Amino acid sequence: MKYTGDNDLHIHSRLSLCSHDDNQTPEAILAYAKKYGIKNLCLTDHFWDTDIPGYTQWYGKQNYEHISEAKPLPQADGIRFLFGCETELDRHLTLAITKEKMELMDFIVIPTTHFHMTSFAVTGEQVATTEARVKTWIERFAHVLSLDLPFKKVGLAHLTCRLITPDFNDYVETLKALPEKEMTELFTKAAELGVGIELNADDMNFCAESEEVVLRVYRIAKNCGCKFYLGSDAHTNKELERAPALFERAVEKLGLTEDDKFII
Ligand SMILES: [Zn+2]
Ligand SMILES: [Zn+2]
Repeated sequence: MKYTGDNDLHIHSRLSLCSHDDNQTPEAILAYAKKYGIKNLCLTDHFWDTDIPGYTQWYGKQNYEHISEAKPLPQADGIRFLFGCETELDRHLTLAITKEKMELMDFIVIPTTHFHMTSFAVTGEQVATTEARVKTWIERFAHVLSLDLPFKKVGLAHLTCRLITPDFNDYVETLKALPEKEMTELFTKAAELGVGIELNADDMNFCAESEEVVLRVYRIAKNCGCKFYLGSDAHTNKELERAPALFERAVEKLGLTEDDKFII
């Protein structure tokens, strides 16, 4: 049976400081779920657990107390609205969440590709060339898999996102240069651990020039037995609205079935 787009496990509310949409409330997110038949959704605001040192001022404001302002999340019949977060992995490979906070989360989205946050999430040198970006992409992915985490409720965010590098040609070249052998090893381990692989709406908004390099990554993941969840990564109402069509596109292009679904 074809994969039904009944989940969205990566959504930001207005509590994320980069949202800038006062209408991006839990109620609006629940209304989106009702409209599009989404049964499992998760709020994942940007989060740094301030029990872990090394945060920036921007992250320091987005602590547990702050993201908890969304609770209790509104619920509706037939819909599970979960509470989670999008944490961070800094340039020292420090994951910004303690075991204690992990227990309080239904789902934890881990981004390894915030290459735009130079000098914080990565060093300038780590993302200066195609070769460096490929190495950094692999290193950070491998590091997450080496940690002691509750992997059944962990998702790897936007592995093929445009944050990898601002130049479009460099972006395509970087994805093209990701070696199949290393990717196969990583995705095989990810499948064994039960980590969810995100199909991010923005990543699935590829154009003709980037389609194949983006999809190749997920085809390899699928062949390795990885399970996929959908992530609008919406920060605004408008971004919520455009996600379902992009999810459908990903499901079609990758030929996903219900067996490929990550179940939380
Ligand atoms: Zn992110
Ligand atoms: Zn996000």
